[in-house]
Amino acid sequence: MGSLDAAPAGGCSRAGCRKAATSRIDWRNPKIHAEDRVKTWLACDEHVDYLREFLAARSFPVRVSSFEATDAAAPAPSPGAGPVGGGSA
Ligand SMILES: [Zn+2]
Repeated sequence: MGSLDAAPAGGCSRAGCRKAATSRIDWRNPKIHAEDRVKTWLACDEHVDYLREFLAARSFPVRVSSFEATDAAAPAPSPGAGPVGGGSA
């Protein structure tokens, strides 16, 4: 459990943030992920820049697009799946 691979469903991925997401961030870590392996974070208006910069600072390929939560979405992953403040960077 706690897999980041699950399709996200509506909540911001920023640790501790429970806001509804308005953007999705598709990214990949070239060092550990295969070419076709893309992870997705969701972000609210407030954190989309933070999360994008977090990934861009590591030279990960990042693509931000708009996100709209739907009722058909799968159960949400554990909140705060994104980078945790205070962790080693
Ligand atoms: Zn947020």
